[in-house]
Amino acid sequence: MSSQLQSIEVRIEGYRDVWVYCEHEDGQLTRATTEVIGGARKVADRVGMKVVGVLIGYNLNDLLREPIYYGADSVIYCDDPRLKDYQVLPYTTVLSDMIVKLKPWAMLFVTSEIGKDLGPRVAYRTRTGLAADVIDLIVEDFVMNLPTGRYVYKDCIAQVRPDFATRIAKIFTPKHRPQISSVRPGNFTPLPRDEKRRGDLVRWEPQFNEDDFQVETLETRRLPKSEIKLEEANVVISLGLGILRDGAGRPRDPREAYGMAEELKKLLSEKFGIKVEIGSSRALIYAQLKELEGLITKDRQVGQTGKTIAPDLYIALGISGALQHRVGMQRSKKIVAVNLDPNAPIFQIAHYCVVGDLYDFLPKLIEELRSI
Ligand SMILES: Cc1cc2nc3c(=O)[nH]c(=O)nc-3n(C[C@H](O)[C@H](O)[C@H](O)COP(=O)(O)OP(=O)(O)OC[C@H]3O[C@@H](n4cnc5c(N)ncnc54)[C@H](O)[C@@H]3O)c2cc1C
Repeated sequence: MSSQLQSIEVRIEGYRDVWVYCEHEDGQLTRATTEVIGGARKVADRVGMKVVGVLIGYNLNDLLREPIYYGADSVIYCDDPRLKDYQVLPYTTVLSDMIVKLKPWAMLFVTSEIGKDLGPRVAYRTRTGLAADVIDLIVEDFVMNLPTGRYVYKDCIAQVRPDFATRIAKIFTPKHRPQISSVRPGNFTPLPRDEKRRGDLVRWEPQFNEDDFQVETLETRRLPKSEIKLEEANVVISLGLGILRDGAGRPRDPREAYGMAEELKKLLSEKFGIKVEIGSSRALIYAQLKELEGLITKDRQVGQTGKTIAPDLYIALGISGALQHRVGMQRSKKIVAVNLDPNAPIFQIAHYCVVGDLYDFLPKLIEELRSI
């Protein structure tokens, strides 16, 4: 039946370029923004378009060329004292106006506090869709078989994100432009910063809506930053619910496994002069074990709702490897997994699979390292 359908190619004309909303802090682009510029570059090159950095704020002078140094072709910026502090309503108005008038083909945000706040409002204002928590961006055609024909929407962005269950979903916005995504930090590699790169700077004059200024920022306070920097570690040793029982099924005090992970961390950092951190599955954090209070905290979580990391070595101890965990660590250069269950999903992506008890494996590994 479907083979008899007439194939109709649909191209949405009049929209160009991949825009990146550039977040900045203390006069610098955030690391996640530089990653998204890297992702935008990949998409734009595939369809022969440009990458445009969008900067909004006040006193932006020193920052204006940064998106270009990281891979953008040009920058559109709106520099105004009334935009000094981020506020969702005026920022939505400014960015939506830019989009309506200049018609970008795609608009990318970081999945951050600001991206999650601003992105959906801008998508609504500009009458298009938004895919949140995206982990990859691929260009492909979107095909819709209808009784009236086989519609092929050319060159759409497949916005890839983990589904709520165990699958990866591809989300398309075939009929509307721009295609808007918020991209999770840790999924693209920033291009090396290159001050020789050149590009146009285009100033945008804002048209404010006075109703947008109903909130006044009186004071800004910084939340203390976590000391645990999983993203910067060369080696991450992660613990899962498997630490609660040994291979014989006997309950174990989870502090034992945590202590061994600490010992391993110490040995690896001392012997090789590298950064080592302890990570965790969400299930172990959510178990809220009294014994691990203050030790296994939310800032150690790896995965879809935790951190996305790509260390040189990831050691998964007693972690099943649910999809939501894997999307946070599958780009690690080498993965060692220790699990009793030979069918544990973590083994599908591990480079070294140890089918066995972590309570046997860890003391042996520690002893081996001590003897080096
Ligand atoms: C919307 C959503 C978001 C989520 N976000 C995240 C996230 O960001 N990160 C995350 O991790 N999860 C996340 N989850 C939860 C995820 O689906 C899994 O439930 C979780 O990752 C499981 O954690 P686990 O592997 O520690 O536990 P389990 O799945 O219970 O696995 C424990 C493993 O340990 C093994 N084991 C048991 N004893 C031993 C032993 N002595 N030695 C060796 N192996 C042993 C078992 O064979 C088993 O494979 C999310 C879920 C949802 C629905």
